Amino acid sequence: MSEKVFGLTIRLYDFSETSRIGVFWTREHGKMRGLARGAKRLKSSFESSLDLLNACSIVLIRKASGLDLLTEAQVRERFPALRLDLSALYGGYYLAELLADLTQDHDPHPPLFDEALQALRDLGQPGVATAPRLAQFELVLLRELGYGPALDSCAACGSDIGDDVLAYSAAAGGIVCRPCQNTFRERRPLSVEGWRAMRNIRLGGDGWKGLDDPATRREVRQMLDDSMSYLLGRRPKLLPYLGS
Ligand SMILES: [Zn+2]
Repeated sequence: MSEKVFGLTIRLYDFSETSRIGVFWTREHGKMRGLARGAKRLKSSFESSLDLLNACSIVLIRKASGLDLLTEAQVRERFPALRLDLSALYGGYYLAELLADLTQDHDPHPPLFDEALQALRDLGQPGVATAPRLAQFELVLLRELGYGPALDSCAACGSDIGDDVLAYSAAAGGIVCRPCQNTFRERRPLSVEGWRAMRNIRLGGDGWKGLDDPATRREVRQMLDDSMSYLLGRRPKLLPYLGS
């Protein structure tokens, strides 16, 4: 049975002398992978379409067992602005790494698909700061996968926090109140500005655009670094290349 889907190429790796495996983030089916036979030959039918961060129409032949076969890939959208700005390009690779490593095969999240594409369209454009734009993508990813950080009340006990001394703990899953802070030793102190910034970005829309203050940007970045590293069980590989 063959199936035509639209997906973002989030990982590519060599399978043999001549073949590669492509991993795609699709709107309808979530993460899918397929073996592209002959993709490494000079005159392959995939030409230059199989490239990281291209959005492609792909045709997969579903196999009852083993890898699905990728028989066609046609580029529908490239993101040329990424290639003009190194921080945007690394940001794009970081986005692909998170999708590849944190989502499950055949577990679709259409809002996360749409957000990933929109983030790639935005990155590298004039006036778009990479880290704040990525922060919105990351908060959508966390929410869609069921790990959206608690930002309104204590993640551990649920009590109201108000403007009391704030802290953020990835292990607790958000902000933690003063009594709970002793339980979560990896917590970091959180300023009221950092807390407000996270809440604004979570709202979607243009919340990330107001993130101008360097100290607040660093705080937001650290919270997201903690959460992504906690979920992955390691630091994301692209993390050292991201600024704040
Ligand atoms: Zn608490």
